[in-house]
Amino acid sequence: MRRATTIGICTYCNAEISKNSRSVLSHFLTCRGGQLIKGTGAATYVLLLIQAQYSPHYWLVVKVRSDASMKTIDKFLRDIWLECCGHMSEFSNKNTTIPMARHLNQVISEVLKIDYIYDFGSSTELTLSMIQTIQDVDEGNLLILVRNKTPEYECSSCDKKAVAICPYCIDEGEGFLCQSCSGQHKCVLEEGEDLLSPLMNSPRDGVCGYTGSINKQIKKYFPKNII
Ligand SMILES: [Zn+2]
Ligand SMILES: [Zn+2]
Ligand SMILES: [Zn+2]
Ligand SMILES: [Zn+2]
Repeated sequence: MRRATTIGICTYCNAEISKNSRSVLSHFLTCRGGQLIKGTGAATYVLLLIQAQYSPHYWLVVKVRSDASMKTIDKFLRDIWLECCGHMSEFSNKNTTIPMARHLNQVISEVLKIDYIYDFGSSTELTLSMIQTIQDVDEGNLLILVRNKTPEYECSSCDKKAVAICPYCIDEGEGFLCQSCSGQHKCVLEEGEDLLSPLMNSPRDGVCGYTGSINKQIKKYFPKNII
């Protein structure tokens, strides 16, 4: 069982923020001296709310340079949440594909909501919605402002905190395992612990071969002062 949360954490100051554009904008009125809202920085950014379509407790607010390409955003989504074995991905709006070479400012001049799919087999689907365009200090192509608080799952066999997922049992809702139960789990006894997926605060946890190992690369998406 999941303890649902829509609370996110500000990556600059660790404050808790609710998942709506009003809360995000009002937080940044004061966080970082209001820099984001004052709009005096040299770089034009787009604030995007990104969430998993079918598990929206996984969500992010990012600032993306308005001249960044969709390919840059695709790379980010793979790094932070998705990459397992190099599956295909696609941005679209109302079933019309948005080319990867397109720049974000071209896209948002036409649409405010973008759909995204990673892996056309065991797919993970996301939506990206524009919150606002802002001027801010230049901190690179893409930075995470808010990330959902890590959801806690209870072990399916006892009530301790789950640390791993059995990909075979997850579809029956029985795949969450705590440290002590994972060693005795029936699939582990048959195939060994390697089959378990770790919980990585990603909507792709437990899907295909996702282990989040690419997470080593995500530092660059967080403000420098906090890591
Ligand atoms: Zn903050
Ligand atoms: Zn895969
Ligand atoms: Zn357990
Ligand atoms: Zn299992």
